[in-house]
Amino acid sequence: MAYRPAKDVKWITIHYTATVVGGPAVTIETIDRWHRERGFREVGYHFYGRLDGSEETGRDVLADGRFEPGAHSRGENSASVSVCYEGGLLPSDPNTGVDTRTPEQIEWMIGRIRKLKKLYPNAVVEGHRDMPGASTQCPGFDAAAWWAEVEAQDAIPPDVERTEPVSPWARFLQLILGRLK
Ligand SMILES: [Zn+2]
Repeated sequence: MAYRPAKDVKWITIHYTATVVGGPAVTIETIDRWHRERGFREVGYHFYGRLDGSEETGRDVLADGRFEPGAHSRGENSASVSVCYEGGLLPSDPNTGVDTRTPEQIEWMIGRIRKLKKLYPNAVVEGHRDMPGASTQCPGFDAAAWWAEVEAQDAIPPDVERTEPVSPWARFLQLILGRLK
C-alpha cells in the first residue's frame, strides 16, 4: 500500500460508529468486518476510541506523518486522517446522531488530535458531516467548534487559572511562617 506524504493532510476528520450506546460492544475488528462487507479493503479509519477511552488503530499513520489513505470521507480520503469514537446514538432515539462521547473518550480524542496536530500543524479538525460534499449526521456534534473551544482553553495562561482567593487559614499560616523567619 502506497503511503501519502504528511503535507497532503488538510483535514483531521472526526467520526462516530453510529451505534447505540449500551448496545453490543464495537471493536476495531467489528468495524473492519462492516467495512469489508461494504467492499473496502479493510477498516477505513485510522484511529478508534472505545467507550472507556482506550485506543485501537486501523489504517497506518507513520511516525513521520506519512499515511495510508483511509475510506471514511468520500472525495477527501487522500487529504485526511480519521478519528472515530464508539457510539453516536442513544437507545431512546436511534435515528438521531448525537454526541455520546464519554469523559474518557473526550480525553482520548483531545490527546489523539494533539498528537496529530504535531504531525499536521495546518490540518483542520472537522466533523464528517461538515466535510465538503458530505451528507451524514456523523459525528453527532460540531467537531470544529468543539476543537476551537479546546484550543481556546489551551490558550489561557496557567497563572490565570490559579488565581483562587487565598483562604483566611492559608493567610494566617503565611503570616505565622513569615514571623518565624
Ligand atoms: Zn463518519
